[in-house]
Amino acid sequence: MEFLPKEGIKEMKICYEMGPSLFAFYSLVLQNSSLKTLTARIQASSISIERKSLLFQGVFLKFKRIPNMRHIRFLLLILLTSCTTVGFHRSSVRDTYEYGKMKFIRVCVWKDENVSKERMNYLFDSWNEELILYNLQAKVAQVKDWQRPGWTGKAIMEELYNAELPEGCDRILALAGVRFSDIAYEFASYILALFFIPTFEVLGAVDSPTGTRGFVLAHTASLGHLLVGGASNTIVHEGYHLLGCGHAFYLSECYGQIKELKTTSEIAGDSFFPATYPGGGFITSRKQLNYFFLGR
Ligand SMILES: [Zn+2]
Repeated sequence: MEFLPKEGIKEMKICYEMGPSLFAFYSLVLQNSSLKTLTARIQASSISIERKSLLFQGVFLKFKRIPNMRHIRFLLLILLTSCTTVGFHRSSVRDTYEYGKMKFIRVCVWKDENVSKERMNYLFDSWNEELILYNLQAKVAQVKDWQRPGWTGKAIMEELYNAELPEGCDRILALAGVRFSDIAYEFASYILALFFIPTFEVLGAVDSPTGTRGFVLAHTASLGHLLVGGASNTIVHEGYHLLGCGHAFYLSECYGQIKELKTTSEIAGDSFFPATYPGGGFITSRKQLNYFFLGR
């Protein structure tokens, strides 16, 4: 296995989830939705994943019927939200796969000091509700008390890239707590939104090469985050990246990817849940993975 120097890794694409700023929120309100129906949609969106995707598609379809001039704002909205979905579900496609017996993904959690144990469990429950579709469950294997470094997601990813995957874990997931700087940023984005200047918020990220380490914002502390379903939705999203899936309009390709991962895990045994190897194939041991990131 080839060792990728750390400098090389840093240059690689990291998928950051962009929360639509208040600008996007404005667009929605200005288009045709009253604040009340929007709130209703957000609440309804937490009912179930399947229904939620239908709901969002419904919103998209609704936009199609509005007068031409407003399409421009709609296009902007799509641009802003395009990185926020790993794809809508297609049960008919998913049903064509047989996911075999139950497998566990052991996760080493880096828990920020202001993230409670209840919060961590709540997020894992949300993720597991989705994973059950594939006969998979994420288990908290270890919890490390951690302090979120720096001002941005980049600092967190750098720390993750330099981390060794500990014995007994298949993935590392950092749960970053809300900070005063996030609130200040949110406030600044309100002001910029008055001038229709869009702002972005990084809600989470996972390393692109292997999908074995990432972070999520564990609290829902901004309108943008709320609009995309909050922290529970973010962990589901990043969870797909942790299984090697990318972004698409539908999850169809991802269903096959998870199936392959599970088949590989049957062969590799229970000591490590496999990860994707960049350029094709799978990483089937912790040793290989650590060598990939650290060169030792
Ligand atoms: Zn993503």
